[in-house]
Amino acid sequence: MIFSHDTELTLRAAAVLINTDRVDGEHLADLHALDEYLDSFGWTGRRDHDAAELESVHRLRTRLGGIWEIADDEARAVGQVNALLADTRAAPWLTRHPEMPEWHLHLASVHDPLWQRMGAEFAMALADLIRAGDLRRLKICAAPDCEAVLVDLSRNRSGKFCDTGNCGNRQHVAAYRERRSNK
Ligand SMILES: [Zn+2]
Ligand SMILES: [Zn+2]
Repeated sequence: MIFSHDTELTLRAAAVLINTDRVDGEHLADLHALDEYLDSFGWTGRRDHDAAELESVHRLRTRLGGIWEIADDEARAVGQVNALLADTRAAPWLTRHPEMPEWHLHLASVHDPLWQRMGAEFAMALADLIRAGDLRRLKICAAPDCEAVLVDLSRNRSGKFCDTGNCGNRQHVAAYRERRSNK
């Protein structure tokens, strides 16, 4: 593990969120889909279950995707992560509870709006990445027909393909065919 468990899980959750509208259309179209996403990553706390909440998560998704796209421009990315920390009023405090008995940070009150709590977690995980000089781990899939993002947590930062479909495999097959046809 390169970063703390919290950070890695949160970065993965961010990538999955961003990819919900980058592969085969919109996969976060309704509140049911939002619940499924949130449950799969164990998000707790307030849920309004209304259109405004879904809309706010869509806006957060767009904003996060924007950070991935400028990850090679550290100064700009830092500016956007700082803006996200400020807009979500991230306020770290130490806590522990039965599901997570080790002391860890929570960044917002369970009563804060969903997007704000999610945004604060994402911003803090991105801040960890930036502090480690590892912003380039935020990548866009290298398959030519894929816009999905990935967070490359491999030790040597060699990851190139998203894990939403089969991009890595498809590219290996394509490269293999290419080599064969050039013989
Ligand atoms: Zn906790
Ligand atoms: Zn891909």
